[in-house]
Amino acid sequence: MADTDSLKKSVQMEVDALMPQLKEIKDIIGENPELGSEEYKSSNLLVEELRKHGFKVEHPFCEMDTAFKAVYKGKRGGPVIAILCEYDALPGVGHGCGHNIIGTAGVGAGIAVSKLMKDLPGEIWVLGTPAEEGHGPYGGAKVRMANAGVFKDVNVSYMIHPMTGASMVTGNFLAVSGIEIVFKGKTAHAAADAHNGLNALNAAVLTYMAIHANRQQLRRDANAVVHGIITEGGLASNIIPDRAALRFGVRSSDTSYVPTLVEMVVNSARGAAIATGCTMEHTVSTGLKSNLHNKKLESLFMGAFNELGHEYRDPVEVAVMPPGGSTDFADVTHVVPGIHPMVGITQEEMTMHSREFAAATMTPGGDKGLEIGAKAMAMVTVEIMTRPGLLAEIKKEFEERRL
Ligand SMILES: [Zn+2]
Ligand SMILES: [Zn+2]
Repeated sequence: MADTDSLKKSVQMEVDALMPQLKEIKDIIGENPELGSEEYKSSNLLVEELRKHGFKVEHPFCEMDTAFKAVYKGKRGGPVIAILCEYDALPGVGHGCGHNIIGTAGVGAGIAVSKLMKDLPGEIWVLGTPAEEGHGPYGGAKVRMANAGVFKDVNVSYMIHPMTGASMVTGNFLAVSGIEIVFKGKTAHAAADAHNGLNALNAAVLTYMAIHANRQQLRRDANAVVHGIITEGGLASNIIPDRAALRFGVRSSDTSYVPTLVEMVVNSARGAAIATGCTMEHTVSTGLKSNLHNKKLESLFMGAFNELGHEYRDPVEVAVMPPGGSTDFADVTHVVPGIHPMVGITQEEMTMHSREFAAATMTPGGDKGLEIGAKAMAMVTVEIMTRPGLLAEIKKEFEERRL
């Protein structure tokens, strides 16, 4: 077997050879954004490419039409490495989160590694994970896959995500849960007969304000975030509303703090129900966890970025940055060692989940991000497959952090 360094060079050349096709697929997905759980064309395009290169593919997978599992086996006995793809878009802003880059970078890394698999021990999997943004029935697909045991034979998993500004080998993601609240009251003429009504909108407004009043008491060290909207608030101003509804999200870098935040929101609604004489019902979604870090995997991605001459933020600086969003990949990091590097595709900082960012994925910067992401994941895969000691170190750290 050739040595690790020359295999890492070879796998970069494989990505170079694939780039025209990868760029084309990235742009087609970018121009034809599909919402979560509806990513039929996007998943078909990625699966077609994997099949063309000899992957064995299950699609649909895990009882989800737009999920897939693609496997390419090498020599017996090595690690199983799962590279994750996302390809869902956002309402109104298309690929404003750049998942067209995530999907193609994952497929590109997988195919590049497959070209060397006759010399490598192990298996490369490319998993298509729908609806990361939570839209539709497949929202939180990675949690569903983790619960279904998809990762039980996997040793390490990773994906890359595009971002604005400088790259980061790791990120901090918040645990999140969603709460839906519905108040029921009683309709009445809003002037003549108001005293016979029970005003559900008043209950919703009181809930909203009670949650605001509680914000000051939230744990700042846990990066608590509470955000919400009133989704229903009556049908006409001359009718006392008999139905009002709210939707809230609560997030924290400390997964164990989330139930406290949920309780605060629900208690605010309970109080409002008593105050207004309305009844209240609520549902809480299972939610997502915050992510477990893995320093060893971070160092491997730093090595790959260094070799590619790609700049990234100092991980020490990143570690103290307040976390912004959440991802269902965080749940994966609790069942298998995993990492979610962020690859910068724009020079300037811009808002994610925006039309501007969707446009950025279609520029030369977007192409470069795809290339860097695919190469870094392919290089790290080759390294883990050819240096058996690495997997043991990654696993040891994972077990210690999971305690
Ligand atoms: Zn997003
Ligand atoms: Zn995203």
